[in-house]
Amino acid sequence: MLENPPPCPKCSCEYTYEMNALVVCPECAHEWAPGEAGAEEGQRVVKDAVGNVLRDGDSVVVVKALKVKGSPSGIKAGTKVRNIRLVDGVDGHDIDCKVDGFGAMQLKSSVVKKG
Ligand SMILES: [Zn+2]
Repeated sequence: MLENPPPCPKCSCEYTYEMNALVVCPECAHEWAPGEAGAEEGQRVVKDAVGNVLRDGDSVVVVKALKVKGSPSGIKAGTKVRNIRLVDGVDGHDIDCKVDGFGAMQLKSSVVKKG
């Protein structure tokens, strides 16, 4: 249990209370899970290989060579990827993007660096 549930992110009401794993606001009936980074926005925080927070629309650089099914060369380290989209992907693949020469694919945030 939290001693002081955080104030409501929607209406700033301070009289929130815990119910099961959620914090509930009595003013606007908003419910959310506390204790997660970025929970105020209702979003996860996705970080790159060195800890920069990534956002939709960012450009990143792949920091290690990646094997790609059907491609003899794969994605090389240093490949630039523009306009990423953060997703709740399968198996830790939390970036949806288009890679030049490869097309749409999903990457793990741990193999890219904001750049
Ligand atoms: Zn509220």
